[in-house]
Amino acid sequence: MSERQRANHQRDPIADLRRIAFLLERANEATYRVRAFRSAAKALAALPVEEVAERARAGKLTELAGVGDVTARCVAESLAGEEPVYLRRLLATEGTDLDAEATALRTALRGDCHTHSDWSDGGSPIEEMALAAVELGHEYLVLTDHSPRLKVARGLTADRLRRQLDHVARVNEALPEGFRILTGIEVDILADGSLDQDEALLARLDVVVGSVHSGLNDDRAKMTRRMLAAIANPHLDILGHCTGRMVSSRPAGVTGPGDRGHRARTRAESDFDADAVFAACVEHDVAVEINSRPERQDPPKRLIRRALEAGCRFAINTDAHAPGQLDWQRFGCERAARCGVPADRVINTWAADELVAWTRA
Ligand SMILES: [Zn+2]
Ligand SMILES: [Zn+2]
Repeated sequence: MSERQRANHQRDPIADLRRIAFLLERANEATYRVRAFRSAAKALAALPVEEVAERARAGKLTELAGVGDVTARCVAESLAGEEPVYLRRLLATEGTDLDAEATALRTALRGDCHTHSDWSDGGSPIEEMALAAVELGHEYLVLTDHSPRLKVARGLTADRLRRQLDHVARVNEALPEGFRILTGIEVDILADGSLDQDEALLARLDVVVGSVHSGLNDDRAKMTRRMLAAIANPHLDILGHCTGRMVSSRPAGVTGPGDRGHRARTRAESDFDADAVFAACVEHDVAVEINSRPERQDPPKRLIRRALEAGCRFAINTDAHAPGQLDWQRFGCERAARCGVPADRVINTWAADELVAWTRA
C-alpha cells in the first residue's frame, strides 16, 4: 500500500470541515463563513460514508442542502487523501501575528513592478520616483507608463516610449550603485485580447504589465477570452489589477485613467472565469498582480486565495502615480499575508537580475 493509499483510509472529510470551522471561529472570521463549514459537516454526517464518496465522485455533493462549491472541494480533496487546501492555508496562518507576516513580506520585497511617471498620468518625473524608491530601500523600480490607446492617461506612443527608454538609460547612469530603473509598460489589453504596443518594443522592455482599462463591463465569456488571449501573449509578464474594481474614491489629488469627473465613483468587479484565467497564468508563467492601491485592493482576497491554490506567482505592486505612493506596498503585503501568500511565490522578492531573467525566459 502506498503512502497515498494509506492516507486515503485515514482522512475524514467531516472532521476536516469541522476543523476549518473551528479555526475560522478562532480567527474571528464572519459568522456566515463558519456556518458554511458547520452546516456542510452536518449534512454529510447524516449520510452513509459510501454515499458521500459516491456523490463526491459524481460531483453531486453540492446538490445537498448546506454544501456549496468551497465545502464540496474540501470534501473531495479530503476523500482523495489530501489535506484540503483551505485547511492547509488556515493552519499556515493561524496563531501567527499577521502584522508580523505582512512586515516580513514587505521586508522581502526588493522592488516595485508597476509605477507611473509624468510621462503618462503620474504626477512626478522619473528621477523623483526613482529617488523615492532608493529611499524606501528598493533595489529597482519598474517604470510602467500607459500605452497609446489610454489617451486620458497620456499613454505613450511607440515613439515616446523609445524616447523614454533612452531617457531611462541616462537616468540610470546617475543613480546610486545597487539601484536601477527597469524598463516596462502598463499595456492595455484591447478588446480582442491583443496588447496595445509594438511587438518589437514590448520585446525590448524588461517587464510588461497588462491591464484591462476599457470595456470593463464585457460579458463573462468575452472578458475571459480577452484575458486568456493576453495571458498567452509571450510578452506579458504580469496581469495587472485583474478585476478592475474600485472599492472607494481615489485619494485626494490622485488622478488615474478614466477618472476624469468620476472621482467619487466605485466600480464593480469585471466578470470572468477566474479559474480559467489563473490556470492560464500558471501555464504561461504570468504573475498575478496584488495591486496595493487603497481604492483598488485588487484582486479581492477570495481571488488571491484562488490564484494561490491554482499555483500562480504574484507581484505585489503599488501602481504608484506619485513618490509617496511607493510606500503603499505594505497594504498589498497585508492582504497577501492575510491570504497566506508565501514570499517565494512573489516575483518582486527577487533581485533585479533574477526578475529580468524570468521575464526574458
Ligand atoms: Zn491600470
Ligand atoms: Zn497603473
